[in-house]
Amino acid sequence: MLPLYASVYDSVFKLNPVYSGYGFDFPVGKPDAKGYYDAQGFGQNTHLGNDWNSNSGGNTDLGDPVYSIGDGYVSCAQDFGGGWGNVVRVVHCLDTLKQVYVESLYAHLQVIQVKKGQLIKRGTQIGTIGNCNGHYYAHLHFEIRRLVDMDLGGGYSSDTTGFYDPTAFIKKHRPRK
Ligand SMILES: [Zn+2]
Repeated sequence: MLPLYASVYDSVFKLNPVYSGYGFDFPVGKPDAKGYYDAQGFGQNTHLGNDWNSNSGGNTDLGDPVYSIGDGYVSCAQDFGGGWGNVVRVVHCLDTLKQVYVESLYAHLQVIQVKKGQLIKRGTQIGTIGNCNGHYYAHLHFEIRRLVDMDLGGGYSSDTTGFYDPTAFIKKHRPRK
């Protein structure tokens, strides 16, 4: 049996093929993360994502733009409070024929600038870098998930099932020139 999400995303991307383009950029300093560094890589301290910070440190990146890494469909855009804060999740279609999807997740945002159900292009600004209501120094917690629509989880786990190393994934799938 197909997962529940399959039929929804299959029809979304079938009806809107222009939003299922191939190729991914970095979520900050587009397209190549210029001016930013990853303070906590995937797998470091069982981290399930990257923590993007500006090279100038501290809260200097508070309010900086965060971009969708690829064309896709906003599957979630809401404030979860706690250690997550404002979260945007985008489902990307890697292959319309084989219906292969990945999900990108952007957390601790200061503001959200997209809505659930919106179709967006690579490089669309989805929000700004936040500090999760003062929980942290400003940074972008960023994940790429091989399995879409999983529970939000905790951002850390020794079980990486369903997750990609985001930087490795983006480097492997840069837009065709
Ligand atoms: Zn993080």
